This record gives sequence, C-alpha cells and structure tokens, in this order.
Amino acid sequence: KVVCVTGASGFIASWIVKFLLQRGYTVRATVRDPSNPKKVDHLLKLDGAKERLQLFKADLLEEGSFDSVVEGCDGVFHTASPVRFVVNDPQVELIDPALKGTLNVLKSCAKSTSVKRVVLTSSNAAVSFDTRPKNPEVVVDETWFSNPDFCRESKLWYVLSKTLAEAAAWKFVNENNIDMVSLNPTMVAGPLLQPEVNESVEPILNLINGIPFPNKAIGWVNVKDVANAHIHAYEIASASGRCLLAERVVHYSELAMILRDLYPTLPISDKCEDDGPYMPTYQISKEKAKSFGIEFTPLEISLKETVESFREKKFIDF
Ligand code: NDP
Repeated sequence: KVVCVTGASGFIASWIVKFLLQRGYTVRATVRDPSNPKKVDHLLKLDGAKERLQLFKADLLEEGSFDSVVEGCDGVFHTASPVRFVVNDPQVELIDPALKGTLNVLKSCAKSTSVKRVVLTSSNAAVSFDTRPKNPEVVVDETWFSNPDFCRESKLWYVLSKTLAEAAAWKFVNENNIDMVSLNPTMVAGPLLQPEVNESVEPILNLINGIPFPNKAIGWVNVKDVANAHIHAYEIASASGRCLLAERVVHYSELAMILRDLYPTLPISDKCEDDGPYMPTYQISKEKAKSFGIEFTPLEISLKETVESFREKKFIDF
C-alpha cells in the first residue's frame, strides 16, 4: 500500500517513516526542502528507502501543495507543524502553518479518490490546557479539549496552534466525511534519527548540561511508541476519535532525579528556575492507547535512550 507522511524529516515522522518502510509500505514523504541533506539523508539511509521511499516537496502554506502527493495514497499521516516554544510572531510562525496547513492537507485528502484514513499528529497541547485545576488525582482523558482563550491569556502560542489546528481538523473531517484518527502525545523523548536537536528533547539536554529546571509538570512518552501508535491508528480498522499518548506526568525535579540516578557523574542541577511551590502532576488516561495495542516504554528507558542518542551524535561529550 502507498501512504503519505507530511513533515517526514521531523523527530516523530522519521520514526513513522522507518516503521512504515519496515512493514513494507511505499512511503511518499513530504519535506519543505528535499535538497537539504540535513533534512533527508537520514531518511534515504533507512532500510527499504531505496525501493519504497519517495520524497516530495510540499509546504503547509502553499495552497494545493499536497494534492498530487496525496492522490493515490491509501493513508495520510499528517505530522508537519512547527514545534517551537519561543517565537516572535505567533500568528506567522505557529498558528498559520498549524491551522491553515492542516486544512490545506485535509482539503487535498477530500479531493483525492484514494485516501481511506488520515492520522493526525495532534498533541496533549490540544487536550489538557484549560482552567480546570490539576492534582495527582485528576485523570485527563480524551474528552478534554484545551481552551483557546486560556491559551491566549497565558500566551501559550504553540499550545494554541495545536488546539486550533485539531479543532479545525475535526470540523473539516466531519463536514467532508473523512475518516480521521488523532493522536495526542505529551512531550516526546527517545532516540533521534534526524541530525539536529528537536524542541522536545532540548529540555533533557539542558538538564544534563546543568541548567536549573523549569517549575513544570509535564507528560512524557517514547518516540517509538508514538510512531507505532500512528501505524496502529491507521491499520486498525475500528480505530476512531482521539488517543492520548503518555507514559506518565512528572515534575521536572523528578526528571532531573531520574537523570541523576542514571548518570551520577553528570552536573545535573537540583535547582528550580523559581521559588514557587512545585506545579502539581496529574494523570493521563491510558485506556484508549491500550485499545490501540500500545504499551508505554518506562520514562527511565526513554531518558536513557535520549541521552545515549545525544552521545552518539556528539551533542554531549562524556
Ligand atoms: P520536528 O520539529 O522534529 O518536526 C516538525 C516538522 O514539521 C518538520 O519536518 C518540519 O519540516 C515540518 N514543518 C514545520 N513547518 C512547516 C511548513 N510551513 N511546511 C511544511 N512543513 C513544516 O517536530 P516533532 O517531530 O517533535 O513534531 C511532529 C509533530 O508532532 C508536530 O505536529 C508536533 O506538534 C507534534 N507533537 C510533537 C510532540 C513532541 O514532544 N515532539 C508532542 C506532541 C505533538 P521541515 O523539515 O521542512 O522544517
């Protein structure tokens, strides 16, 4: 079968492409710049790439950019979206590509005569950000949807971009009779296939470089579990709706503690960025993920894999 992966050079998408090729699929991979070796070399080296990987140039903001890529595909994995937590112009840098880009890809799917299912890489960003108080007893599940006003007031622009994009996606697929499953991972860790540090593993690099940790509690999940979940969401005919993906939520102080246990000689800080009370943790439901056949890799292993990957790629030297 032929499938499409948008934003194929990214951290998560590279693993999706790798697993799809392993499973015998022909993969049409979209990137913005197929001539940039940093974006494509690691994909071209994957097993099966020579025979079954095709690169396409496509941009989220270019109307119709995905039409010819998507036509002929049975499934579309839409992962492309900017992941940046610090921006100058949120509308231009995050919201437009996330929101207009998602609709652009879905419009191509609606026009196509072949696409049977779309798997959308949404995020926990579109799930758990609202005014409801959190504590270790609270279980966030698929019925939660982040509140755009809360995101705007809190200036959580990446979170807003993912919330608006997923909400618009559901509206569009419902109006246009498209079969879509959305996956909502928390922060993703694990080994990197791409040559550059991506945004969600950067906090781990900061921790092992001795930088004080943020006062935040956040969920984590392994990139290989996220990639597998995408493939299950496509292959399991009965899969539908949203699916949260998280091994567990921890405060950064605990993340630092796990890293200190794993790497006692590294200068991992025990200081928080601020003096306030620690932000509380909460739970994320695993019920839906279980029904997709996903078992989560323990956070300790994901962190170890991330750091080993930093070492292999010489982002750190110890
Ligand atoms: P990366 O930054 O590694 O990859 C993002 C991808 O989006 C890149 O391939 C990039 O393409 C593409 N992209 C960005 N802007 C555009 C644009 N204007 N046109 C075309 N492509 C564009 O991020 P991740 O792998 O971490 O994230 C992938 C997806 O997963 C995103 O949708 C993200 O929101 C979601 N997600 C990520 C989480 C995480 O912790 N990592 C957690 C939850 C969800 P190019 O290579 O051309 O720059």
